[in-house]
Amino acid sequence: MVGAMSLENIPKDLRSARACLVCSLIKSFEQFEFDGCDNCDEFLRMKNNRENVYDCTSSNFDGMIALMSPEDSWVGKWQRINRFTRGIYAISVAGKLPNSVIRDMKSRGITYKPRDKCQR
Ligand SMILES: [Zn+2]
Repeated sequence: MVGAMSLENIPKDLRSARACLVCSLIKSFEQFEFDGCDNCDEFLRMKNNRENVYDCTSSNFDGMIALMSPEDSWVGKWQRINRFTRGIYAISVAGKLPNSVIRDMKSRGITYKPRDKCQR
């Protein structure tokens, strides 16, 4: 999406907010279930799939950064998310992707980098 940051990417209710385990985008559970992840739904397939939302997002995340201009944002480069959609991102996400998802990503040539800073 190009242009102004879309408001629907900002979680309306942070109590139900979850962060994607792959790209750390923060949205509410309902937003993930309704739209999937803006960056990763091609392989996470969370859209209309509550089970996948539970598996591929985590409510246990730390820190938030707004990514407004992915093209030239130092934040984006630091988080390695410069090609991702505008939105609110977590700095650290605790949780583990199911192995089947990691295998699926690998078969698409995508390397999964855990977002949990504590494991490094
Ligand atoms: Zn994602």
